[in-house]
Amino acid sequence: MLIHIGIDDTDSPNGMCTTYVGALLYRELSRLAEPLDLPRLIRLNPNIPYKTRGNGAVAMTFRADEESVPEIKDTVLFYVSQLAEFEHENTNPGVVFLEGEVPNELKEFSLKALREHVTIEEAEEVAREVGAEYFKFKLGRGVIGSLAAIGYPLERFTYELLAYREREYWGTERRVNGESVFLADRWAYPFSYDNVDPYKRSVLITPHGKDPVLVGIRGVDKAKVLQVFERVEFGEPVAFYQLYKTNQNTDDHLVPKKIGKLKLYDSAVVRGRVAGPYWERGRHVFFELEDETGKIRVAAFEPTKKFRNWVRKLLPGDEIIAAGGIKEHEGVLTLNLEKFYPVKLVPKVEYQKPRCPKCGGTMKSKGDYLKCKRCGYRMPKELIPAEVPRELEKKIYEVPPDARKHLSRPLVLPGGEDRILNLL
Ligand code: ATP
Repeated sequence: MLIHIGIDDTDSPNGMCTTYVGALLYRELSRLAEPLDLPRLIRLNPNIPYKTRGNGAVAMTFRADEESVPEIKDTVLFYVSQLAEFEHENTNPGVVFLEGEVPNELKEFSLKALREHVTIEEAEEVAREVGAEYFKFKLGRGVIGSLAAIGYPLERFTYELLAYREREYWGTERRVNGESVFLADRWAYPFSYDNVDPYKRSVLITPHGKDPVLVGIRGVDKAKVLQVFERVEFGEPVAFYQLYKTNQNTDDHLVPKKIGKLKLYDSAVVRGRVAGPYWERGRHVFFELEDETGKIRVAAFEPTKKFRNWVRKLLPGDEIIAAGGIKEHEGVLTLNLEKFYPVKLVPKVEYQKPRCPKCGGTMKSKGDYLKCKRCGYRMPKELIPAEVPRELEKKIYEVPPDARKHLSRPLVLPGGEDRILNLL
């Protein structure tokens, strides 16, 4: 028989990582039953407030004899009870077991958890309907992610290799040779990507928190991912590592929506017109986007760095496709921009001073008249409109790798452009 296991919400900013619990369990349970595939790291709605980091949940499936099922379940519950960060108020683990095939209803629930906000009660109701067994620790919010990870139709996927640290190193600076990461990346890019930020010359595979992850290496080709791992030089022991199959970098979270239908915590792609000039506050860049159903504030926040320069080039009347998450910012519903594509750009007109009609010299503004710098000729200030080139191209602009959501598909990957364009 098939047994599916889902685990979520075992970590806090003070430590632990659900993938670590999952990787240990995958190894342990493989002694009791036959794994059907790699364990799965499923990222759910990136906009919900309870997440520790990337709203990830873990699921795995085994073919097991009926008599080993109780031991499998006991092992899972034991590991979660021993390893979860229970002291933290925002850690509310959940564990789900489902036997047999995954029903369609559960797949639909997963996609809802990916793209919208769902409640613990909703998850419990779906679990009861599909005959899944669930265990809640504290508030048990983790049942949402656990159930969604089991039901997730992983049609598009990538890989992430997670290597873990020995316990005595947890909380200390990670010792990874940066130069070796650059060399490995150069060799494997783009089949393995997001290992480094070439512009900032920084290493991206090492997290910064107290969690047990030493590095996470991503890619579309699992052999390349493993080889990158082999090429990276570590200055501390690697406790063990696990390759995960994941929905990261698939853009699965984005759904086409009308602006008037956008709700808090949605992840969406919309098409609309820039409604007015952009404005800035606290290094964040904002503008408004409208379609026939409504208007929404759009933001490119400070961490998106140079991406903001492209946003500043948008003009009122431009038609764009915009993708991102809906959050509340200063009490206003705001689309947190991940990517945009200029569909139709209005002409950009600049008003320029004429040349001197007498001598062809350069004119200088003097209040409401113009004066020639060369011959001193004066004339009323009448500026000439001239169309200047727009500096935006018809291509997708995306935020830099360190500001990118786990689910967002980098443009270097196949289909990176097409997916969001084909949605609308
Ligand atoms: P890590 O990535 O390190 O595992 P995290 O960012 O995944 O950390 P969690 O500790 O898993 O954070 O917390 C996310 C919580 O939000 C979980 O309890 C999960 O069940 C819940 N959750 C997931 N998706 C949704 C959703 N769509 N609506 C409401 N709650 C959700």
